[in-house]
Amino acid sequence: MTLFEKIIQRHIPADIVFEDDQVLAFKDINPAAPTHVLVIPKRPISRIDAANAEDQSLIGHLMLKAAEIARELKLENGFRLVINNGPDGGESVPHLHCHILGGRALQWPPG
Ligand code: 5GP
Repeated sequence: MTLFEKIIQRHIPADIVFEDDQVLAFKDINPAAPTHVLVIPKRPISRIDAANAEDQSLIGHLMLKAAEIARELKLENGFRLVINNGPDGGESVPHLHCHILGGRALQWPPG
C-alpha cells in the first residue's frame, strides 16, 4: 500500500482540505509554497503515464476539483498545478497526485 493509500484509509493523518467519492485533497507535509495542496484520486493510479482511457473522467474530475480548491483557497492571483512523472519528473510517491501551488509568484522554468 502506498503512503497516499494510507492517508485515504486514515491509517496515517493528513490535513485534509477536500474529499468526495473520487478524490482527496490534503496539505503537503513539506510545502514548497505558502499554499501547497495535493489532490489525489482514491482509485490507485501510479502516475499519469500509467493512466488509461478508463481513467479519463476521474482525471478530468480531479483537475476540475483542483481548480475549484484553488479558488476556495483564495489563490485569485494565480496558482500552478503540477504532476510529476517518473524519476526525471521528480515523482517520489507512486500514486498519482496533482500539486496545487500558490501564495507567491512562482518561477519558470522549474529547476
Ligand atoms: P512528488 O515528489 O511525488 O511529486 O510529490 C510527493 C509529495 O508528497 C511531496 O511534495 C511531499 O512533500 C509529499 N509528502 C510526502 N510524504 C507525505 C506525508 O506523509 N504527508 C503529506 N501530507 N505529504 C507528504
